[in-house]
Amino acid sequence: MSSKLKPCPKCGEEMSIEYACGEYFVLPTNRGCYFCDGFNEMHSSEEQEIEAWNRRADNG
Ligand SMILES: [Zn+2]
Repeated sequence: MSSKLKPCPKCGEEMSIEYACGEYFVLPTNRGCYFCDGFNEMHSSEEQEIEAWNRRADNG
């Protein structure tokens, strides 16, 4: 894997990437955080999904 998930910029939790039903999605370990728990973009490639999350983490 060439990309790495950034931690949530709000709560600092590590994020994990999961795969189901043909889509990759980022899962927060902190269910109480509006920022990472509210991220529900999915992508058909792991690379795209990681990029989508990292872009959101960067843009706060
Ligand atoms: Zn968070």
